[in-house]
Amino acid sequence: MRKGVTVWFTGLSGAGKTTISKMVESSLRKSDLKVEVLDGDAVRQHLTSDLGFSKADRQKNIERVAFVSKLLARNGVITLASFITPYKEMRDFCRREIGSYVEIYVKCPLEECIRRDVKGLYKKALDGEIQQFTGISDPFEEPDRPELVLDTTEDSKEICAAKVLDYLIRHSYISGCRP
Ligand code: ADP
Repeated sequence: MRKGVTVWFTGLSGAGKTTISKMVESSLRKSDLKVEVLDGDAVRQHLTSDLGFSKADRQKNIERVAFVSKLLARNGVITLASFITPYKEMRDFCRREIGSYVEIYVKCPLEECIRRDVKGLYKKALDGEIQQFTGISDPFEEPDRPELVLDTTEDSKEICAAKVLDYLIRHSYISGCRP
């Protein structure tokens, strides 16, 4: 059985984690690879609906996802996990816990994320309607040793997705893939 891997997309809300992971998912599926997506919003609606956004709750959220990712990886699945994961210690936890872990920093300046405001959350956070919002009223610690950095103001989403696939091929997680 092929070795599973967790591709962990970290970055600010609106940076492009979900967009890129969906494109990567579609390419992997076309190539008949076993793939699963764990996305922050969906996971918080189901697996971790009891949790909020304090540091302790964010930690618990990530711990549960890491646990699921580890089970999937053990069964040869490529897991695409998109979570802001703002704290270095949380990402280090994932790296240790999951083992087969590729960290991808989806990089986008805060000003651009605010301009995009995909879900209208930045406006609410800036108006004080949402507390503990990463980048506005909560910290984001930049990754210091990600396997890959995708700059979503420099590269198109297609190029970003291609860079992820290329990384997975070069490191033998997959043998090839149609874009
Ligand atoms: P996140 O999952 O990080 O919160 P989303 O993927 O939901 O972010 O939203 C990112 C937004 O930025 C989308 O509207 C997407 O179309 C846009 N975008 C612009 N350029 C890029 C790019 N190069 N890569 C990914 N998304 C991009």
